[in-house]
Amino acid sequence: MRRLCLIGLGLLASLCLHLPQLSYALPPSTIPARSQGIMMSQVKLPSPERAIALTFDDGPSPDATPEILATLERYQVKATFFVIGRHVQRYPEISQQLVAQGHAIGNHTWSHRSDRLNPQEAGYEINQASRIITQVTGVRTLLFRPPKGRLENGLVSWAKKNRYLVALWSVDSRDYQEPTPHQIVQTILRQIQPGGIILMHDGNRGRMQAAAALPELLEALKAEGYEFVTLPELLQRSGRF
Ligand SMILES: [Zn+2]
Repeated sequence: MRRLCLIGLGLLASLCLHLPQLSYALPPSTIPARSQGIMMSQVKLPSPERAIALTFDDGPSPDATPEILATLERYQVKATFFVIGRHVQRYPEISQQLVAQGHAIGNHTWSHRSDRLNPQEAGYEINQASRIITQVTGVRTLLFRPPKGRLENGLVSWAKKNRYLVALWSVDSRDYQEPTPHQIVQTILRQIQPGGIILMHDGNRGRMQAAAALPELLEALKAEGYEFVTLPELLQRSGRF
């Protein structure tokens, strides 16, 4: 009997020890309920609004992300980072820094798989990334971008069913083709419109070119009267999402 009581007390104690974790309040989703489960690549803004969203995929990386964060800070610009889960696990400090600087964070899967996935595999890729993002940064994000923009391999359908906002882009910087920084700026300037979403990279191919292009890009877009906001804020400004 005494032993049973002790076991009972032990169970109770271990339950109590875990309670703070169980009752840990996650930060609220930055995506309003009416925008969850949809897909978008740009928004329509009431004129004369000229807000746009800069987005960086595939990071964080130790050689490009800190440089990009420093430039964004210097120009007082907020952006959105679609991170790869295993990169967040590898570089937790950089991940925390980007959230601390006020940038939005989105899910870009655990390992950047772009082949065909069954629902279990798709769920694993997205859930694992979501878990590590929350564990490292404290943010629970419902923003999702599929690797390589693939829409039919099982990830997007899983993400939509699970209330993620699937965010694509309207302007492809083509930085992954590793052009010169000036060419990246010109590619973006040719396509940009108010409400636009720009695709760049702070991980994988093109990240160093993207980092090098950023000051010239921000100068040029600011000169054209554009204002940089995070994706959730761009949605909010449009009023439609
Ligand atoms: Zn990617």
